[in-house]
Amino acid sequence: MPKSLNNHRTPPRAARQAGATPRGGVCAVSTYASPMAVAPLGDEKRPRGPRRVGIFGGTFDPVHVGHLVAAVNARHALGLDEVLLVVANVPWQKIAERPITPAADRLAVVEAAASSAAGLVASSIEIDRGGPSYTADTVDELHRRSPDDELFVIIGADVVDGLSSWERVEHLARTTTLVVVNRPGTEAVDPAADIRLAGFRAVGIEVPALEISSTDLRERAATGRPLDYLVPEAAVRVIVERGLYARRG
Ligand code: ATP
Ligand code: MG
Repeated sequence: MPKSLNNHRTPPRAARQAGATPRGGVCAVSTYASPMAVAPLGDEKRPRGPRRVGIFGGTFDPVHVGHLVAAVNARHALGLDEVLLVVANVPWQKIAERPITPAADRLAVVEAAASSAAGLVASSIEIDRGGPSYTADTVDELHRRSPDDELFVIIGADVVDGLSSWERVEHLARTTTLVVVNRPGTEAVDPAADIRLAGFRAVGIEVPALEISSTDLRERAATGRPLDYLVPEAAVRVIVERGLYARRG
């Protein structure tokens, strides 16, 4: 059974309603304000109808707890039914810069990392589609599958600068809500005032600041330093089993 059905938890109605109309431009949704009890529901008890789905895309080379903490807190703050960790097939903005770990390996690590987190689902949608990975295509495909779902595209603050170069970005602005999470090393983003987000329905979410990057993890692994606790244990196991990121020569 796919994890999205098997391990699904739906936030309580109050949270869903609180997040139902994200206030465009207001960077005011706090993950700390009201801890909510999240009760597991059996499949047969899951509410039918449109779902609120987060799309958190990345190269995830490799995934780390910074990604996971951002994803679970965005889900909580906006009452999302689930957050898809969408593993880029060909990260078109990065391929010129460095060799990218094969998509199947990155996906396997993300699957292991997401396996213990309620509401996070590893997605191979861009790998299955093949070719360069454009979020606009992913949004269209998800809408084709479930036309009534409300989609939220989650990005870290460091990505805001590059948004204007995204493929069919106006289409994304029309069809999704953009969610910006804070990231150490990048100035905080206020969607209400930020000219780079003009035209978007955007909301800012405050998440615990974790100064972790995949770049740092690749360097750590290449120099024999541990990834433990920066990457979930199950994911570290997959990295070791597959011999990824290891020191060469
Ligand atoms: P790299 O160093 O290779 O660029 P990365 O750590 O930035 O890797 P990506 O796969 O590039 O990871 O990022 C995917 C998404 O996760 C982006 O939207 C990015 O802003 C966000 N993100 C990555 N790390 C963090 C973090 N520590 N806190 C919040 N958001 C993060
Ligand atoms: Mg990055």
